[in-house]
Amino acid sequence: MTVSHYFDTMDYGPAPESDAEARQWLARHPEGFSHFIGGRPAAPSAGARFDTFEPATGAPLARLAQGSAADVDAAVAAARAAQPAWEALGGHGRARHLYALARLVQRHARLLAVVEALDNGKPIRETRDIDVPLVARHFYHHAGWAQLQEREFADQQPLGVVGQIVPWNFPLLMLAWKIAPALALGNTVVLKPAEFTSLSALLFAELAAQAGLPAGVLNVVTGDGATGAALVAHPGVDKIAFTGSTDVGRLIREQTAGSGKSLTLELGGKSPFIVFEDADLDAAVEGVVDAIWFNQGQVCCAGSRLLLQEPIAQDFIARLRVRMQSLRAGTPLDKAIDMGSLVAPIQLERVRKLVEAGVREGATCFQPDIALPAGGSFYPPTLLTDVHPASTVATEEIFGPVLVAMTFRTPDEAVALANNTRYGLAASVWSETIGLALGVAPQLQAGVVWINATNLFDAAVGFGGYRESGYGREGGREGCFEYLKPRAWAARKPRPAAAPQPAAEAPSLDLPALDRTAKLFVGGKQARADGEGVLSVLSHAGRLVGEVAAGNRKDIRNAVAAARAAAGWSGATPHRRAQGLYYIAENLALRADEFAARLVSTTGVDAAAARVEVERALGRLFAYGAWADKFEGAVHVPPMRGVALAMVEPIGVVGVACPDEAPLLSFVSLVAPLLAMGNRVVAIPGERHPLSAIDLCQVLEASDLPAGVINVVTGRHDALLPTLAAHDDVDACWSFGSAGSAALVERLSTGNLKRTLVDHGLATDWHDDAAAEGPAFLRHATQVKNIWVPYGD
Ligand code: NDP
Repeated sequence: MTVSHYFDTMDYGPAPESDAEARQWLARHPEGFSHFIGGRPAAPSAGARFDTFEPATGAPLARLAQGSAADVDAAVAAARAAQPAWEALGGHGRARHLYALARLVQRHARLLAVVEALDNGKPIRETRDIDVPLVARHFYHHAGWAQLQEREFADQQPLGVVGQIVPWNFPLLMLAWKIAPALALGNTVVLKPAEFTSLSALLFAELAAQAGLPAGVLNVVTGDGATGAALVAHPGVDKIAFTGSTDVGRLIREQTAGSGKSLTLELGGKSPFIVFEDADLDAAVEGVVDAIWFNQGQVCCAGSRLLLQEPIAQDFIARLRVRMQSLRAGTPLDKAIDMGSLVAPIQLERVRKLVEAGVREGATCFQPDIALPAGGSFYPPTLLTDVHPASTVATEEIFGPVLVAMTFRTPDEAVALANNTRYGLAASVWSETIGLALGVAPQLQAGVVWINATNLFDAAVGFGGYRESGYGREGGREGCFEYLKPRAWAARKPRPAAAPQPAAEAPSLDLPALDRTAKLFVGGKQARADGEGVLSVLSHAGRLVGEVAAGNRKDIRNAVAAARAAAGWSGATPHRRAQGLYYIAENLALRADEFAARLVSTTGVDAAAARVEVERALGRLFAYGAWADKFEGAVHVPPMRGVALAMVEPIGVVGVACPDEAPLLSFVSLVAPLLAMGNRVVAIPGERHPLSAIDLCQVLEASDLPAGVINVVTGRHDALLPTLAAHDDVDACWSFGSAGSAALVERLSTGNLKRTLVDHGLATDWHDDAAAEGPAFLRHATQVKNIWVPYGD
């Protein structure tokens, strides 16, 4: 080709990046790669290895170790041994290591970028300009959190040994997102990379050891899903952090239920890309290119559902098709390509099949007439129009370069369509009207919203899902909490076994409870239970002091429906919510003596202690009234012209099972933070002493909380909790009580991937503010949405 040819056609010529250094590194491992355990390579104990391939050519690239349970065991042991010293090193010491890792990534940026492109099939332009710089940024940012740890997280401690499982779409970036916060805050790590793409993790581990990272702090065990499963099952692991498919995420939730392991899940998505009629259409077309053809669409937050306002839909599709025609697919090491190869033939097949299913279901398929390299797993950029919102391609995560387009008429319809998915990872909103864009963003059920932009990431800005896109955040302050636990919670001891319920005596005539028909509190009023049954409530001495309704699964469902209907509370201003809590406190104060007497008669505490419990409950209501407008988000300034607004949002409908101890105070301590943050609650009072909660319902009835914001269903926990924990209209479930209840709640939360907060049978001292009040609860009562708002031309 001559220069004049390129001048005439304006075609890009090939611009290959050299792979010489990467090939030399590969060649230094002629026998194949080992795991990386305790600071050095460790051959697979069972001797098994498997091949990894270059996606763009299909040629073998390297041999990797197949991790066995014994290998995982060795890695966990190494991490455990290293953890105390790593933690004891202190924030500054760890900050220096993290800083060194950031510098190391920058020094070896080109090698890392090439290895990643070879191993994954993605364009070097992306690994070089996006993945690797973001990796360095994550280490710098988290070096900062390490440095500030003693000051900013003084009431927290590291979790211990963390098992981290990452997918193949951003192998090195996911490694950084996972290990940077974990290590910064004093944990040690066993990382399981994806079997398709383990090389950059092994290279990173080698380099990190050369840079002086202490042995055992970072361990890498390669292998397939079974290796990941062994890590999940290992009893020596304190937390699992997983990124990958929703199916495997669910499996991990089920397998870790009741184990006491912390868990964060970053799962799939089907993110909407909403274009309003007043958008800058050409900018939005470029946005689509970044949203769905970046990394061949193998991006969990890919904008894979294009939602177009009707008046501009045809025009937009026409412009998009023209743009698609100029996309360049090619070999990953060519610096002038837009798209590389999918990661493996199995993914190619999956994408093909899903597109075929879409066409069978009526979609029109457009693929530009562009050249694809022979061999490898290349798939063209694809646009599906005439797509029905319920069709397979509109609902399933395709995880490939396939965009489905639909239309809407009004902003409300756009929001409804955008939220019409079980996922909630990200969303992109395009409009030149700031009021419209910022009005739509809070209505979108997604952890990240980009205004007039897409696929922006930064270490300071948390990333993670709503709904079935998983829970937990990576990045920012909120991401740090995923690798810490409150010291006050770490000190909890198993709840003492309850003394056997004394035999019932004849009812005491001096107590007031028997004159009432036992009722539930649902939808703002006292409600009869579905069944006829009642449960006798005995005092500590065995006296019959009252009866409560024996609620059943239908009562739970009614309560959930009432809570669902009370959605206005989640949009109420923090001031309004604070007023609601203060007003409850005011009404409770008026009846303080009565509540204290109830505690004396039921739990057997003396009058002074009962008075203290009532006073503390009042204090707690005040505290959460105070927090309601003070537990706020943040404004981040990521490296762009613009800001990212970290908004603290309620989770939605939350079920709470309360413990028996300190029945008034524990009930208030669990319900008030949820109300303060705008959640609607279905509460099950402690089984043994439910009367304080029932009395409180009268206070609630007289308060100005809207109907359905709080609902109380009494009854046996084993009859009620399974329905609550499994209910698909419940967004989170808290359980404070037995270890068995905790396991049950975690296990049954998998259906819609509820957020859970359970005590695993460890007793909280409800009188201790450090353990029973404040941000630790508020964080569990909220989820952070980051809204990116670029500005300027
Ligand atoms: P997986 O969820 O299976 O893989 C993610 C990671 O989990 C990998 O390291 C994998 O190991 C590991 N793993 C697999 N099974 C288990 C298990 N039982 N216990 C513990 N760890 C396990 O995703 P796939 O790679 O199979 O991709 C399938 C689909 O998932 C994709 O087509 C895409 O739709 C979606 N996906 C979504 C991602 C996201 O970020 N949202 C990321 C990746 C995939 P190994 O690779 O060795 O099998």
